[in-house]
Amino acid sequence: MASVGGARGRWDYDVAVIGGGPGGSTTATALARLGRSVVVLERERFPRFHIGESQLPWTNEILHALGARDTIASSGFVEKWGASFGGPDGEDERYADFRAAPETPTPQTFQVLRERFDEILLRHSEKSGALVLEEHRLLDARFDPDGVTLSFTDRHGGEATLRAGVVVDASGRAGVLVKRFGRHEYDPLLRNIAVHAQYEGIPRATGRRAGDIRMFTRPDMGWLWFIPLSETVISVGAVIPQVVHRRESRATPEESLTHYLAATPAAAPLLERARRVSPARFDADYSYLATRMAGDRWLAVGDAAAFLDPIFSTGVMLAMQGGLEAAEVIDRALRAGDVSARAFTRYERGVRKRYHHFRRFAVGFYDPSFRELWYSRPPFIGIYYAVVSVLAGNWRPSLLTRARVEAFFVVVTVKRILRRFRSAQQTPS
Ligand SMILES: Cc1cc2nc3c(=O)[nH]c(=O)nc-3n(C[C@H](O)[C@H](O)[C@H](O)COP(=O)(O)OP(=O)(O)OC[C@H]3O[C@@H](n4cnc5c(N)ncnc54)[C@H](O)[C@@H]3O)c2cc1C
Repeated sequence: MASVGGARGRWDYDVAVIGGGPGGSTTATALARLGRSVVVLERERFPRFHIGESQLPWTNEILHALGARDTIASSGFVEKWGASFGGPDGEDERYADFRAAPETPTPQTFQVLRERFDEILLRHSEKSGALVLEEHRLLDARFDPDGVTLSFTDRHGGEATLRAGVVVDASGRAGVLVKRFGRHEYDPLLRNIAVHAQYEGIPRATGRRAGDIRMFTRPDMGWLWFIPLSETVISVGAVIPQVVHRRESRATPEESLTHYLAATPAAAPLLERARRVSPARFDADYSYLATRMAGDRWLAVGDAAAFLDPIFSTGVMLAMQGGLEAAEVIDRALRAGDVSARAFTRYERGVRKRYHHFRRFAVGFYDPSFRELWYSRPPFIGIYYAVVSVLAGNWRPSLLTRARVEAFFVVVTVKRILRRFRSAQQTPS
């Protein structure tokens, strides 16, 4: 194999980042703070709409590491202290209070308008020293032993090229490099679609819980989200299993959303005076992992690498944590003069491991036995708190928390076996 060295001077930038969402801006900021020359190519002009408003407490540590936590905290975003889960009939409620989450340094996080949040983070990349080129769309990347030549269109439609030592695919679901060298492998257990819009006139909790996310499960295993975005506006979304959606979708996103809301009894009292104040939108919501997340002179972060069902609001945190780690590994690889695929193996392993850590919970949420346990009184409070810790974003739990999480899943498995046994007994032979 040709050598893939990291020597400076053969390219315009040490690193080119494709995409300026949270994954891309985090990577760019962290690299710039490490002294690397970085360019971000982003095809849109920010601010641009993006779904994914509810954040997790563990994002705070990442914002600290980027030097952006104070800017985000003073930007007027709604404070979030926890997540409430309501059963389909509206009677059960399970509240995940992040103050009770072990190993979580800062339990309060935010609900964010992503157009603002993402723009603040991208401007922060600029302030940290990265060159940000908006309305610049990557067209192609040509790899050779000495670097990568990227061709792109600029905001006037003209074509240009630049040379970089390493390229980061942070292009979200587009996965511009991931799809060139592999593909997104969809998770057969998490095939859902989402339809969402912003509403006014929805009553909300008072006091500390006023900004929390509320979710309601549906009998068909789908669920609704209610995310306060300001004093008056609430983001409302329905996540629906693909098989149900094929049967029940309506002519427009608006009609589909109205239908799914009306068919969720638990949500009815909240929606009596609700008024939609934005268009409704569909979003593909299939979970996937990239078959390859890195190669010689490139790696992928965020949704380009993996996307997990949004039930526990993990997306932005996963993208940003991946971005931080990607920056460290790239900086180290450039210093060592080896930016070949093997320099990124540990990074890729880490991303996959973190994804599976949360995937267990996401898949569990669509399993009646998991839901039954979650909505019942917890057998041991320590187990319950351990689960809340993971829901707060804890991706590296202590041994004790891990053991408690395992105990939770053991009980889920026992419940599943009993459920199967009971239904087998009820089935006439
Ligand atoms: C229905 C739904 C609900 C969700 N809810 C939540 C939630 O509540 N909380 C949460 O944390 N996450 C949520 N997510 C997930 C979250 O939105 C994503 O995980 C997050 O945006 C990933 O960030 P990213 O930077 O990887 O990608 P993105 O934010 O998608 O950014 C990618 C960027 O790349 C740019 N780009 C693409 N192609 C090119 C190109 N060729 N050239 C240049 N630029 C390019 C795009 O314009 C975009 O700005 C949700 C997702 C869905 C689908």
